[in-house]
Amino acid sequence: MILYITRRIHFSAAHRLFNPTFTFEKNEEIFDKCNTVHGHNYTVDVTVKGTPDPETGYVLDLKILKRILEEHIVDHVDHKHLNEVALLDGLIPTAENIAVVFWNIIEKHLPVGELYSVKVFESDNNWAEYLGEQA
Ligand SMILES: [Zn+2]
Repeated sequence: MILYITRRIHFSAAHRLFNPTFTFEKNEEIFDKCNTVHGHNYTVDVTVKGTPDPETGYVLDLKILKRILEEHIVDHVDHKHLNEVALLDGLIPTAENIAVVFWNIIEKHLPVGELYSVKVFESDNNWAEYLGEQA
């Protein structure tokens, strides 16, 4: 029996999308308005897949997942400038890159279950979802 459980977190942060190897004109052309510092109220949905423990009924105690997400993610990005945080060093802070970085962090700390997806919402209309490396 396989189930999927999800913990949602929120954080607010600023970012600017640009590639330092591009010319000013090329950055303007590709990233348009995102090539200026602006912010988002991010929502992140983290889904873990697994079989419920027969004694607890839990795939993974969501309190544990909450703690992992707060300690290893929210504390490092909330009210920060994402172009300057260590977690995203050298990366353009798109929702895509953020999803992959968060995935790698969460996977390292997950005590049970299997990470299934990380969705990073920049708004109700825009998000990126990472399902890990697909074989
Ligand atoms: Zn943005």
